[in-house]
Amino acid sequence: MKWKELLKRFINLLTFTDIPIGKKLFIFAGGGISWFIIIASVGLGAVTYVNDSSRSLTDQVVPQIKASQKLIINIRGANVSVHNIVIHDEPDVVNRNYKRAGFLLNNIDSTLISLQQGGKIEDYSDLTGELIEEFQVEPITDLIKAETYINSVLEKNHKLRNILQEMAELKLQGVSHGGLTPEEREKFMNRLSEYDSLTIQAVMALGKLTSGISFLQNHYTGNIKNVLRQSMVVFVIIGVLAVLLLIVFSYFLRNSITSPLNAITDQIKGLSEGEVDLTKQIIIGSRDEIAELSASFNTLMNTIHDMNTFKKVIEEDDTLSDVYFRMAEVFYEQLGLDDPVIYEISNRNAMKIIETPYTKSEISCNKGILVDSNLCRARKTGHTISSLTHNKICKQYLMGPEKYHVCLPVIVGGTTGGVIQFQFDKSLKKDGEKQTPILDIACIKKQILKAEQYIRESSSVIETKRLTSALRESSIRDQMTGLYNRRFLEEYVDTLIASVSRNEGQLGLLMCDLDYFKEVNDKHGHDAGDAVLKETANVIVKSARGADLVIRFGGEEFLVIVKGAKPGDVDTVTERIRRNIEATKVKTAGGIIQKTISIGFCEFPKDTQNFWEAIKYADIAMYKAKEAGRNRVLQFSKDMWTANAY
Ligand code: GH3
Ligand code: MG
Ligand code: MG
Repeated sequence: MKWKELLKRFINLLTFTDIPIGKKLFIFAGGGISWFIIIASVGLGAVTYVNDSSRSLTDQVVPQIKASQKLIINIRGANVSVHNIVIHDEPDVVNRNYKRAGFLLNNIDSTLISLQQGGKIEDYSDLTGELIEEFQVEPITDLIKAETYINSVLEKNHKLRNILQEMAELKLQGVSHGGLTPEEREKFMNRLSEYDSLTIQAVMALGKLTSGISFLQNHYTGNIKNVLRQSMVVFVIIGVLAVLLLIVFSYFLRNSITSPLNAITDQIKGLSEGEVDLTKQIIIGSRDEIAELSASFNTLMNTIHDMNTFKKVIEEDDTLSDVYFRMAEVFYEQLGLDDPVIYEISNRNAMKIIETPYTKSEISCNKGILVDSNLCRARKTGHTISSLTHNKICKQYLMGPEKYHVCLPVIVGGTTGGVIQFQFDKSLKKDGEKQTPILDIACIKKQILKAEQYIRESSSVIETKRLTSALRESSIRDQMTGLYNRRFLEEYVDTLIASVSRNEGQLGLLMCDLDYFKEVNDKHGHDAGDAVLKETANVIVKSARGADLVIRFGGEEFLVIVKGAKPGDVDTVTERIRRNIEATKVKTAGGIIQKTISIGFCEFPKDTQNFWEAIKYADIAMYKAKEAGRNRVLQFSKDMWTANAY
């Protein structure tokens, strides 16, 4: 594992994965330029070398070869003239050839000195003696033994000149005397063979000199070829290497920039088209700006994903308290905000604390806000109230300076429907052994911003849930008395019957009807009638037990369902209702009204298995009570039920 990590780090280093894009491009350009410089330097070196070598060839070697060849020609030319002296007896022919040979031998001297020391070389025509060519020669320096050859030729040339003079003089003397004497002739011929042999020696020495210079020439041309060939190889190697590296680095550079950008673009396109896999993360393979962008994008996608999931979950939650529970869970578990307090504002402007396993139930503020929520600054302004930005911002917050508080309004349907409060200890907290500052204000502010997002997402759901529950309440409750209505009973009856059969208990069904109620309307008006009905409802609710259900069954008829009734229980409740109604005085504009009530009751399922039949039985008993003189309680008995009576 370790070596893989090391290898990855090494490759990252080579491919500049972990450095910022600007530097990446800079190094990339630097690399490219370096290769150009290397190639140019090699080229320049090769060209300079070739230039120097060819200059040596043209300026140095070529004139030297030419000079050395001219020397051989001259020495041979002189030899020919000497042989002409031998074969011709005419004095002017002898003189001409003597002069020409002398001129050639002198020219050899000056040429040799030029080759030795450098200088001008003049080439004259054999026939006319005119100057044909004149060129500059550099001294032969790089050739071993050149000096020896030159000196030996100089020496031989000197001797040749002496022999030439001797031979010419002998010949001319002989010619003037009518021919050479045998002794003179012998001497003359001996001088000739001496001359010839010296010529051969000189030519051989010059031949060696020439081939030496030719060797130099070959050496230079060979070097030029070598340098050109080597330069070609170096060019090819550097070229291939540079191109390969360029391809590799371009590939990595391109990939490191384009692949995360493409992934981000795909996600954004997906987002705009509504089709996106929010859990798909962009792989971060570098440590540059793109990596930062990818990480931020991943965080954004995570946030959107969490937010989406959160909203879906709370939308599917059944009740408002489930939503509050979920919000508290997110604040605590995901955002790490301890002890959030959720306040809900009711229609009547009161505030209450919602209890969840994640929230505190103690109030940190003046208790007055529970009665009049307008005292709460966040509620009143609809803005975030934070002591992180303004010290002592809210007078209602009583926790003192050792704590920060941030109160976020929950805007529901345009008004503040609730407030969520977060609190943080300013002091350092003990974290194990070490004292560590746990309050990272920047981090808290970031988390608060996220909390605000969650609250925004929740607010529409809270609004819908509140509206649904309000609508439901209104459809199953009677507006005037606040009691459940007959519709509620119809919806609830199955649950009720199921619970009765599970507990094997009895229900007491009490049908209560005010006596002569019509009179109230007739005498005191409808409003007074309403007031009496409201008060009657109150009295019945108070007379029943908490677990019992009081339903406004009809106009002035109330059904009380006494749950888990034991023998005698129902009698107690009915009697209590009857007495309390009898004792109640309702104040109206027209005076005090006092009414009585008649109650008929039966037991379910003891009297009948059919719930609605049982209600009927209670009704029958109630009518029997009316018949019996009103303001009384009667229990249903079978003898009351005669099929034809109703
Ligand atoms: P008893 O039951 O003793 O036989 O006499 P009663 O006068 O109560 O007779 P009944 O049940 O026929 O009268 C019921 C009256 O209740 C009729 C109706 O005008 C009145 N009523 C029903 N609902 C309301 C209501 O919401 N408000 C008012 N003010 N009156 C109502
Ligand atoms: Mg009635
Ligand atoms: Mg009545």
